[in-house]
Amino acid sequence: MDKCTYNFKKKILIDLDGVLNNYGNEKFDENYIPQVKVGAKEFLEELHQSAELYLFTTRNLMLSTKWLIKNNLDIYFKDITNIKIPSYLYIDDRCICFKGEYKDTLNEIKKFKVYWKE
Ligand SMILES: [Mg+2]
Repeated sequence: MDKCTYNFKKKILIDLDGVLNNYGNEKFDENYIPQVKVGAKEFLEELHQSAELYLFTTRNLMLSTKWLIKNNLDIYFKDITNIKIPSYLYIDDRCICFKGEYKDTLNEIKKFKVYWKE
């Protein structure tokens, strides 16, 4: 490989609870991370080919690291962070995409519901 090859992949921050696991099915426990969500591995496998992935979580770093390794997902991530580092995209189950209109955003906030909550 050429010595001058650089990695210019875009950074994408991916939330853990509710995105990569079955969050919401059981009572929250700060010492336990729920099972990996079906399809998460395939999703990361595809995405990591074109982006530099960061696990974005406020969970304990060691607990999150062990969970990634246990589920063979650690290979897809560059790092784990609880800081919103400058990135191309943020993937989260609790967010509103701001499209330039505050009024629309307020309406979206009023209607907002996480997908996993009945
Ligand atoms: Mg979440």
